[in-house]
Amino acid sequence: MGIFEQINTHDYQQIVFCNHNASGLRAIIAIHDTTLGPALGGVRMRPFASEQEALEDVLRLARGMTYKAAIAGVNLGGGKSVILGDPRTEKSEALLRAMGRFIDSLGGGYVAGQDIGTDSHDMAVLRAETPHVSCVHRKAGGAGAPSFATAWGVTAAIRAILKTTTGDDELEGRRIAIQGVGNVGAMVAKYCRQAGAELILTDIATEPLERLSHEIGAETVAPEEIYATDCDIFSPCSIGAVLNDETIPALRCLGIAGSANNVLAEPRHADLLTERGIVYGPDYLVNSGGLIRCQQEVRSGGALDDDKVLRHVEQIYDQTLEVIRIASERGISTAEAADRMAEERIASVRAVRGLGPPQTP
Ligand code: NAD
Repeated sequence: MGIFEQINTHDYQQIVFCNHNASGLRAIIAIHDTTLGPALGGVRMRPFASEQEALEDVLRLARGMTYKAAIAGVNLGGGKSVILGDPRTEKSEALLRAMGRFIDSLGGGYVAGQDIGTDSHDMAVLRAETPHVSCVHRKAGGAGAPSFATAWGVTAAIRAILKTTTGDDELEGRRIAIQGVGNVGAMVAKYCRQAGAELILTDIATEPLERLSHEIGAETVAPEEIYATDCDIFSPCSIGAVLNDETIPALRCLGIAGSANNVLAEPRHADLLTERGIVYGPDYLVNSGGLIRCQQEVRSGGALDDDKVLRHVEQIYDQTLEVIRIASERGISTAEAADRMAEERIASVRAVRGLGPPQTP
């Protein structure tokens, strides 16, 4: 498929191809939808196999951000950008600043954040060229990484699913199995442990796993054993596509709520979970706590009251219950219910855009 055909199929608002020979920058910025607000999304840097693959990735991710913002109830649109290159060898100040200038040329229509291959130090470099950046490192006067807010939201979703499946949202005495104890998973473990949950943890990196389990008092299992672990909630906080034809039949949990993106290998796996009676918290709702924090960072120009942020993130509890209610009412999976709710919110906001004083010629 040609590039223009590919863009047209999905109704994107703006796609910008960025090229700067002196710094070696080759990047694509995709703005999917700004009905709800400026399009916020991370800057992903990795060596793509082809330009086609980079375009497909940025289009898919930008669209996903529109849905995430809509379901999280924040006033942001969906966007994303990709830089084609190896972040370990090809990232430089000049390349990032060139990227910053392209972002600035969009006048705030796209707001950058960190993603795979970029970090909050890189966001500080971008900010030298544009104010339209979030997740800037604290030492550079920004709000820093949002992982703890993401973890707080995951914990809220876990409690909502416990409420649905057991009638009680207390974590005390509940068994929570966490896959991946990186930035988000380790914080989910700490929040759940502080609330009295029993934890079963796994990670492919044994050293941080052992350190954390010792620190907070948790069981550990081998990575392949986590799926069949008897627990109340399975919380995937590592890589995508872990819920698939092999793992779903093995699960022994009441529900699922984790931070990993694209955790279903295919959309049909949501139905497979429903058939098994397992309540699935849609990934992009469950992990939207970081985005909620980014919205407040963008609005406040960097200064943040994190207690207020966490209170706002708590709304993921109510929104998860609402998704479960709509799914049951309409006889659809929770994944499909989240998509429909996101689309309905965007359509309803778009419909009021015509209101206001009459335009004078
Ligand atoms: P991270 O890289 O800090 O942690 C991921 C952890 O998973 C690592 O410790 C890694 O060793 C482990 N891991 C990888 N493969 C594994 C496997 N097969 N089995 C068990 N463990 C495995 O990443 P993070 O920032 O904690 O993010 C975790 C997930 O949540 C990612 O999918 C990310 O895209 C998503 N997410 C993160 C945020 C955020 O605020 N950081 C926000 C939204 C979504």
